[in-house]
Amino acid sequence: MKPVLVRSVAELRKITGEWRRKDEKSAVVPTMGALHEGHLTLVREGFRRADRVVATIFVNPKQFAANEDFGRYPRDEDSDVAMLASEKVNAVFIPSPAEMYGPHFATTVSLAGPAKAGLEDKYRPQFFDGVTTVVAKLFLQTGADFAMFGEKDYQQLMTVTAMARDLDIPITVIGVPTVREEDGLAKSSRNRYLSKHERSQAVAIYKTLTQAAEKIRNGTDHQVATTAAVRSLTTLGFKVDYVTARNAETLAVPKTASEPLRLIAAAWIGKTRLIDNIAV
Ligand code: AMP
Repeated sequence: MKPVLVRSVAELRKITGEWRRKDEKSAVVPTMGALHEGHLTLVREGFRRADRVVATIFVNPKQFAANEDFGRYPRDEDSDVAMLASEKVNAVFIPSPAEMYGPHFATTVSLAGPAKAGLEDKYRPQFFDGVTTVVAKLFLQTGADFAMFGEKDYQQLMTVTAMARDLDIPITVIGVPTVREEDGLAKSSRNRYLSKHERSQAVAIYKTLTQAAEKIRNGTDHQVATTAAVRSLTTLGFKVDYVTARNAETLAVPKTASEPLRLIAAAWIGKTRLIDNIAV
């Protein structure tokens, strides 16, 4: 069955309200569209936990800076809806910017903690305020029991988890492992920007993270391993924003050798900025 296409908050509330009345659990999968297997995995994980899945497609203007790719971010509603239909998603919420942000919109949801870890926030200062504001709205609009987020955007996963906790929003945020291409490159809507040559280079981010993790597991100091990773990516032609080891839960700079670590990276290849992360 085709999912119901929903464009207004009122309509969305009607549908999700029906589900609640029938005591059906629901999961929300927030996306910006240009869907791929990573997004569909979030949908499948949603159905493992809930009776109903609502996917949202919204390229959120608030999380892009003026010089970023908001205007050219890939948009393909028909293909996205067809992919979601094949996963039997119940509803797809596709609001316009005006539906999300009315003329008198005045609220920003802004976090410290993981949202100020000095990673994405350092290079995209507007990003997490935009994300947490829109995600708080989506949580409240859907009233979903579960929210599915990819580990691919690790700082985002930690940030929305903290936001739901701090604001007592009754939703359980579930992190889903990163889905990768055959060579290891993390699937991403932005991979469409890569030329053939850039695409063949791009896997180096994952390979370099994997090698650094291996070194750390074998006793190399995390700073030594990540400095070497930056050097090797730079030599390959990347402009590296960061490669760093952080506490896997708080994203703070590690203080002891026994903390659980996450290796997190962001780097440019040509005009495309890619991010990735792995457990150590
Ligand atoms: P986006 O549309 O890029 O904003 O992503 C929407 C959701 O899909 C976010 O929770 C992402 O972390 C998740 N996601 C994106 N790429 C992947 C991937 N390769 N594997 C798992 N989840 C992903």
